[in-house]
Amino acid sequence: MTEKTEIAELQEFFISQKKANRYFRYYLENCVRCGSCIENCHFYQGDYTNDLNAPVFKNEQVRRLIKQQSLLGKLGLYGRPSSDYVDSLSYAVFESCTNCRRCVIFCPFSIDISIINTIARAGLIKIDKAPEMLLMLADMQIQRREFIDDYIEMFTEQVNDLENEIRKEIGDTSFRMPIAEKGAKILYVPLSGAITMTSPAKIFHAAKESWTMSKFDVVNFGFLVGDTVRAKKILKPILDEAEEVGAEKLVIGECGHAFKLAAKIAERWYGKLPFEVELVVETVANYIKEDRIRFDKSKNSERITHHDPCQHARNSGIFEEPRMILREAAVDFVEMTPNRDKNWCCGGGGGLIAVPDFNKTRRIGGEKKIEQIKATRAKILTTTCENCKSQIEDLNEYYNLGIRIEGVVDVAARALIYK
Ligand code: SF4
Ligand code: SF4
Repeated sequence: MTEKTEIAELQEFFISQKKANRYFRYYLENCVRCGSCIENCHFYQGDYTNDLNAPVFKNEQVRRLIKQQSLLGKLGLYGRPSSDYVDSLSYAVFESCTNCRRCVIFCPFSIDISIINTIARAGLIKIDKAPEMLLMLADMQIQRREFIDDYIEMFTEQVNDLENEIRKEIGDTSFRMPIAEKGAKILYVPLSGAITMTSPAKIFHAAKESWTMSKFDVVNFGFLVGDTVRAKKILKPILDEAEEVGAEKLVIGECGHAFKLAAKIAERWYGKLPFEVELVVETVANYIKEDRIRFDKSKNSERITHHDPCQHARNSGIFEEPRMILREAAVDFVEMTPNRDKNWCCGGGGGLIAVPDFNKTRRIGGEKKIEQIKATRAKILTTTCENCKSQIEDLNEYYNLGIRIEGVVDVAARALIYK
């Protein structure tokens, strides 16, 4: 496909989306280019020499292409797309935007760049310009789901080994890590790392919960890249599994985009779900409120600070649950500034952390986060999203921060008192 054909296809796609999607139309038409968003994007803060790092210019890239089709556009009033238009758009929406929505809260008109960005990403996928790494990872997940029977034996062995280790560690042979067991009240969906299974498992055990673990991992590379078809193929088996188990609650492991997908988007695609969806820290915070679990704070004596993942905090309102857990389970919890809805994004979300070609931009996008972390003088940083953990681990190593990165549930699990 030539650059000219690619641009024509993108233009056609954006025009059709503008007709069909009133939010997209509203956001494109109502941006007054005041620039209030610019300073509030971590990519622009990291590198202000590149206009494409500014939220308003991402919006403008799409708007100008649509306007080319108007009468004034045809008369050349809006100029012609540059020869590197597709690459510039790809940089603007895939490489230098994490869909964190920080700019949205500083925009006087609440223009949601993430909607424009998601549609721009879909247009680029349509012309085969999505980052290949993300598509490949999504396809691997789809394949694992299609051939789950071939993987399940190995997975069960791995989980049995973990179960035996924990029985020895806590001295309790009744500890279990059941997989997709029918009749459990909770279906917990982990990520691929062992600790994302073991920490919640210890907490469920201590709370005497009726629970079972999913056969699948919760990450969804299809959703991260903005490909709805792939995202559905990765999500649906989890929803089906929860129904087969008869779960009352689907509890999502510490993952930002996976929670957004299951808690906010799944019902748009599939209608009302027959179970509640909860993030694992919400479940743990409820156990504390119900006095079902207790902690020995002395197990977490080092200073801890917390990074609010954009998808959980700013975009889902989960602010207090991780803080309640950290105050209960650790001696010295300190806030970073700003926090909650105004927290700076770590720079690794939206799929960036999985694409090595984006490393330079991603690390530039993490510079505001580094400033925040250093100011706390914390030894441990907790967060509730795997992407954030991976990004901050990389920043930690690259910029020599000398901290440890952990999940909130890991801190809680370490301090559990087993009755
Ligand atoms: S703050 Fe809102 S209206 Fe102003 S330039 Fe940014 S997106 Fe447009
Ligand atoms: S990275 Fe966040 S702040 Fe920057 S443009 Fe994207 S959504 Fe807005």
